[in-house]
Amino acid sequence: MSFDGKVVVVTGASRGIGREIALSFARQGATVACVATTEAGASGSVAAIEAENGKAKAYACDVSDSAAVDALFASIVAELGTPAVLVNNAGINRDTLIMRMKDEDWDRVLDVNLKGAFLCIRAVTRTMMKARYGRIVNVSSVIGLTGAAGQANYAASKAGLFGLTMSVAKELGARGITCNAIAPGFIETDMTESLPAEMRDMVVKTAPAGRLGLPADIAPAVLFLASEEAGYITGQTLTVDGGLTL
Ligand code: NAP
Repeated sequence: MSFDGKVVVVTGASRGIGREIALSFARQGATVACVATTEAGASGSVAAIEAENGKAKAYACDVSDSAAVDALFASIVAELGTPAVLVNNAGINRDTLIMRMKDEDWDRVLDVNLKGAFLCIRAVTRTMMKARYGRIVNVSSVIGLTGAAGQANYAASKAGLFGLTMSVAKELGARGITCNAIAPGFIETDMTESLPAEMRDMVVKTAPAGRLGLPADIAPAVLFLASEEAGYITGQTLTVDGGLTL
């Protein structure tokens, strides 16, 4: 799975899963556009990639901002070239019970997790269609498959990504563009840091793998779906959860 000479865009690349995905692509020869809300955050991952003699550039963008996303992709195309791969990984949670969930908790999570992916896909496909080649990977969640109490907004946003993924696959398949989703289980990152101990214990007891996942468990699955070799796989969801949802 070589990404030599390919431009790869990873959103949410400053931390956690996205940072690991960015580093993994760079190790396979890609030039990685590392996107986060601040340039300082994205620059940390760029520095880590450059320390391994990889190629990357930092970009600041709120993926829920339509004009900012269009400007982001215009800059990436001008500075790095046409992206061959887009990984929609940026995501947030604002967990609370439905009774207590404010409109803004619902809107913000849907805006970042679902609309953000749509905006990036719309922006990147303009150039991917001309190149008649593209790989899009949307980072969803097992919560989008199962739902979860206290996560109605997050679950809805992640389930929405499955519909988006299948629609993009159908709409753009004839142009050499594939679109797939990854559904990670519980992965050790800032997002899961504050999980109650009982929840961690439940995952360890329930998942056949007997542990929480690591960002390094997710990145190889993303690279596979983004590879040239995976060109006949589209519209699919690959669950990477240590068997938690079996
Ligand atoms: P994380 O450590 O909290 O990192 C989130 C990333 O998203 C950061 O790079 C953050 O950038 C970026 N981001 C947040 N809002 C953004 C916005 N409006 N525009 C651009 N970037 C934004 O999260 P993670 O655990 O690595 O999760 C990464 C993805 O995997 C998310 O989509 C998450 O839903 C999904 N996921 C995670 C788990 C898990 O257990 N951890 C499980 C299933 C799915 P800043 O640093 O600039 O804030």
